[in-house]
Parts: sequence; structure tokens; C-alpha cells
Amino acid sequence: MADCIFCAIANHEIPTDVVYEDDKIMCFRDAEPQAPVHVLIVPKKHIASLDDTDASDQELLGYILLKVKEIASDLGLENGYRVVVNNGEDAFQTVKHLHFHILGKRKLTWPPG
Ligand code: 5GP
Ligand code: ZN
Repeated sequence: MADCIFCAIANHEIPTDVVYEDDKIMCFRDAEPQAPVHVLIVPKKHIASLDDTDASDQELLGYILLKVKEIASDLGLENGYRVVVNNGEDAFQTVKHLHFHILGKRKLTWPPG
């Protein structure tokens, strides 16, 4: 999709610190990390938010969650990590391309702000 920063990253149009990539997803380091490890997983296909998914995305969504576990293990997050999907305005979703944050390597407080 034109003018989507995460589509541009997924298409290798912008140099990015890629952690994992396959034909369906890309994982890269967040430009403004909120924890010592902070990466984002995005589907290569443009989906604006979780609200824009439907039953045809069931396999992709399950695939991403299973990759979260694998990538977290590869990044050495054996002591735990948090997975965050900000959806819509109240959650401060700033990039309108679905992404899963993985944060770790520090104690994360709860509740979130
Ligand atoms: P959101 O608030 O939408 O859930 O999170 C968007 C995230 O994308 C933020 O953590 C922000 O730092 C990150 N981000 C925004 N633009 C870029 C970029 O061009 N490159 C990378 N690596 N991360 C970005
Ligand atoms: Zn996009």
C-alpha cells in the first residue's frame, strides 16, 4: 500500500534492522525501543489493524503468534516478554499497518499506561 511505512519496510525500500523474515512476515527492531529488546512483527500483506482482519486471516494470525514464541526464544527472552497490539485511537496505534510488539529484557510494569 502506498504511503505505508511498514509496507515500505516489508518491501525492503527502507534500510531496517531485520531480525526475521519469510514470505508472510517480517520482524525488525523498533526505531524507538521501549525496552532493551523491542521488535515488531508485521504481516507483509497490508492490514491496517486487528479490526481489519477477518476469517480469511485466521491462518496468518495464528502463524504470527507462533512466530512470536520462536523469535522471542531466538532473542534470548527466556525470562519472559510482553506482546502488544495497539488497536485504534484509544490504544495510540500510530502506524496503520498491523504490528505485534515484542518487548523484553527488563521488568515490565502492569497496568500499562
Ligand atoms: P504503535 O504505536 O502504532 O503500536 O507502534 C508503532 C511503532 O513503530 C512505534 O513503537 C515506533 O517507534 C515504530 N516505528 C515507527 N516508524 C518506524 C520506522 O520507520 N522504523 C522502525 N523500525 N520502527 C518504526
Ligand atoms: Zn502497510
